[in-house]
Amino acid sequence: TKGLANIRGTARDDIKAHFVFIPLMLQGHLIPAVDTALLLASHGALTSIVVTPSYTERVHWTIDFAKKSGLPLRLMEFPLDLAAEGLPDGADDVDKVPPHLIANYFRALANLREPLERHLRFDEPYPTCVVADICHPWVKELAAKLEVPRLSFSGTCAFSLLCQHNVERFNAYDGIADDHELVVVPGLEKKFELSRAQSLIFFRLMPGFEKFTDELEQAVVKADGLLVNSFQEMEPQYVAGYAEARRMKVWTVGPVSLFHQSTTTLSLRGNTAAIGADVCQHWLDGKVANSVVYVSFGSIQYVEPKQVVELGLGLEASGHPFIWVVKNADLLGEEVKEFLRELETRVAGHGLLIMGWAPQVLILSHAAVGSFVTHCGWNSTMEAIVAGLPVVAWPHFSEQFLNAKLAVEVLGIGVDVGVTEPVMLRYDQKVIVIPREMVEKAVRSIMDRGDEGEERRRRARALAAKARAAVVEGGSSHANLQDLVNHFQRSPARGAAA
Ligand code: UDP
Repeated sequence: TKGLANIRGTARDDIKAHFVFIPLMLQGHLIPAVDTALLLASHGALTSIVVTPSYTERVHWTIDFAKKSGLPLRLMEFPLDLAAEGLPDGADDVDKVPPHLIANYFRALANLREPLERHLRFDEPYPTCVVADICHPWVKELAAKLEVPRLSFSGTCAFSLLCQHNVERFNAYDGIADDHELVVVPGLEKKFELSRAQSLIFFRLMPGFEKFTDELEQAVVKADGLLVNSFQEMEPQYVAGYAEARRMKVWTVGPVSLFHQSTTTLSLRGNTAAIGADVCQHWLDGKVANSVVYVSFGSIQYVEPKQVVELGLGLEASGHPFIWVVKNADLLGEEVKEFLRELETRVAGHGLLIMGWAPQVLILSHAAVGSFVTHCGWNSTMEAIVAGLPVVAWPHFSEQFLNAKLAVEVLGIGVDVGVTEPVMLRYDQKVIVIPREMVEKAVRSIMDRGDEGEERRRRARALAAKARAAVVEGGSSHANLQDLVNHFQRSPARGAAA
């Protein structure tokens, strides 16, 4: 049959559940969705992942590798109708969408509903569950038309989801005119202070996305459950709190990056790396254990040229060896590129600059790495936790401020670099630069070998052990994955369990 033709080692009768993943086409959303699909496949479910052509290129290595090892997994490529939404050629890659056309891009994604419905209606085996990124409200209608249950997939942790939900349902910012005034997040036992700009869901702060944001909320409310890349033991009170507030089943299935256990799949994860895994490993092999600072701000953050310079000088001044992932180097201008070339020469052997995609999880898992300066995107935060690393929290936008609170104030594994206001991707005109002195101070503090630093490291290592325990047999995430497969398998009476 069509769908199963290239799935090796899986007899059709063995397939009881078929999950169709519809991720948001952004690496920070696609990577954990693919990993979750891999995990469900390793629990015996067929998983199909919907991608647009630019993203096929980024993930097909991982999928091919998994298929070769016998996992029931496939990619379903659907091109976007770019012209219909006035988008330029190539703009199915979100990096190529002009900022003023971002709403059109989201409409083009929503237009996938009909072609997807036509395809899935005749898919064999018929889907038993659709798993949609929380940013795809239109999948509500798709799942309803197909008469299959729908799960939401969130790119963040339960703590951040609950904070965002609480500030909305308790109207925490009513009457507060200043977007940067700190307010206590209501409805939580522990006290956290956050501004509206730091804690509202991303789209609430995007002009023109008001209706879309309400649709997101409606889609979550009506979902049959939520998948979170987190694990029960890390944030039990927030997993339970969110499930209760939403009256919804929450399955924690992470840390999903732990699916990858080999250098090959780790070095292929998410994109083609700008540096060979062997080169990276060789460089790290020459360093003392726990001595290297890894610095990266994720897959989409554009760092302002002035900030690049201050960050570089701060790292150099800290005196610690470092690996620094510089994104969008070609957009930085000649002067900053020259600065980077000079810095590279000065720190040769001591500091490694990666211009482009880094094999992040591979780097983090090396014993030489001792801390992570991160923008606190949820995947990066989770990957730091898996690696047992303390973090310098340097949030930029969206729920990164909340993830930073979790790392610093709940888990006690981080120090704050001192950012107070969000930098909104490339859309922000105002740039608040963190000066080199603050960078240096934060790096020295996270690498400190005194009591406080050691205590942080001890907590990070203990958390990593719990993370690993969650995904192996007998662990909470392992059990949740099996539960999902059982829960959403075909039932003889209805075609799919509700
Ligand atoms: N990533 C990577 N190499 C890079 C940049 C990012 O492997 O050079 C991966 C990283 O490991 C993580 C994801 O991309 O899994 C980024 O997700 P995150 O939530 O941390 O941040 P976002 O990119 O969504 O802001």
